[in-house]
Amino acid sequence: MTSFDYDISIIGAGPSGAIAAALLAQKGYSVCVLEREIFPRFSIGESLLPQCMEFIEEAGMSEAVNAIKAQRKDGAAFHYQGQDIDFDFAHKSTKGPSATFQVIRSYFDKILIEDAVEKGANLFYGTTVTEAEFSPSTAKLHISDSDGKRMITSRFCLDASGYGRVLPKILDLSLPSVFPSRTSYFTHVKDNITDASHNRNRILITVHPKHKDIWFWLIPFSDGTSSVGVVGKDEYFFEMEADNKSSRDILKTFIADDPNLSRILNAAEYHKPAQKLSGYSCAVKSLYGESYALLGNAGEFLDPVFSSGVTIAMKSASLAANVIDRQLNGETVDWETEFSAPLMRGVETFRAFVEKWYEGDLIDVFFADAIRNESITKYLTSILAGYAWDMDNPYVMQPKRRLKSLIELCQ
Ligand code: FAD
Repeated sequence: MTSFDYDISIIGAGPSGAIAAALLAQKGYSVCVLEREIFPRFSIGESLLPQCMEFIEEAGMSEAVNAIKAQRKDGAAFHYQGQDIDFDFAHKSTKGPSATFQVIRSYFDKILIEDAVEKGANLFYGTTVTEAEFSPSTAKLHISDSDGKRMITSRFCLDASGYGRVLPKILDLSLPSVFPSRTSYFTHVKDNITDASHNRNRILITVHPKHKDIWFWLIPFSDGTSSVGVVGKDEYFFEMEADNKSSRDILKTFIADDPNLSRILNAAEYHKPAQKLSGYSCAVKSLYGESYALLGNAGEFLDPVFSSGVTIAMKSASLAANVIDRQLNGETVDWETEFSAPLMRGVETFRAFVEKWYEGDLIDVFFADAIRNESITKYLTSILAGYAWDMDNPYVMQPKRRLKSLIELCQ
């Protein structure tokens, strides 16, 4: 019988890797997590959705996460040209948690992976996966760490490498995203927000007053700092980039375009340089193959606008852990119907919302009186809270058709 170093190898210790590691270790498998960085390390993706809390609970991590004392988040607020709309997650149609957190990812990710280690996973920091080979029952990963190069074998491999996209690159799985390339500039500020009407329990999404396809996020944390960022098509930033403006100046120049956001952040202190990310939306030909599956951003990443990234990452970990468990127990499994298709149901829901957001129509819907109808609002609130897999929600069952009708109603 072949001997393996581990039952399951996981590339990357972000949220998808940590949740998968915790779930599988608790099922009694030997699990190794190979992470090229040493945590804490910076990561973007700070506003969670309440649906995440179910995956955190499933992985037995609620206690560890609650102990962080992160900023509570129980809704999403939107601002456009002087108008405000607030979605309170308590009014969603789907059962389940209606609150979550806004987290500084360097701490959050460290807590999650350390909890997975408490539950039995083996973590290797400073370990980069450089090559991979797969057969129907074996995954071989070539790794490089401070001791040099070696190989790790396992019965199954999960690629949770996020933007590293390790297996899509090695196995040539990448596909271009359906969305155009967008750029984001962002930083953390000491926010000094005194505006009593500003609710720290909300992410605030502000639509640029002149360019409807540019938007800003303001994500307050519990320590008096906030994450602030702008997102737009690459070309909106070309001129300032050509003028060699610093990333921080580019971000501040865009923020100055919106009177409401400028007012809220009028006393903010920008101590840190801003960072830039572009071309992050991506897709793949397949989310699974012989002895491997792709989790979170290593699979498909849509867009940051509805803060769906970590939720999709955790959902993929939860689905994959169940299928691997059955496969390694000798059951016949179908990765298409048991992993890929159910995962993509939620991805397609968010995709329809992202498409209509950038076309501008969904922004009009959010501010239209017609959606004050209680049932429409509660279905939309459910999606904004991350419940994009709830088949009792018509906007999950038929996202494109339902959104089209809603847009027509609002017009
Ligand atoms: P990651 O969190 O990226 O973790 C991957 C890990 O793999 C990393 O630690 C990395 O070091 C490691 N790794 C990479 N390559 C290798 C290798 N070769 N060997 C070993 N280890 C490796 N999502 C939200 O939910 N809310 C938000 O508010 C939000 N805002 C966003 C804003 C922007 C501008 C962008 C671009 C994204 C945003 N996201 C947001 C998405 C979010 O960042 C991701 O969806 C989420 O972090 C994905 O988690 P993951 O576990 O798949 O990967």
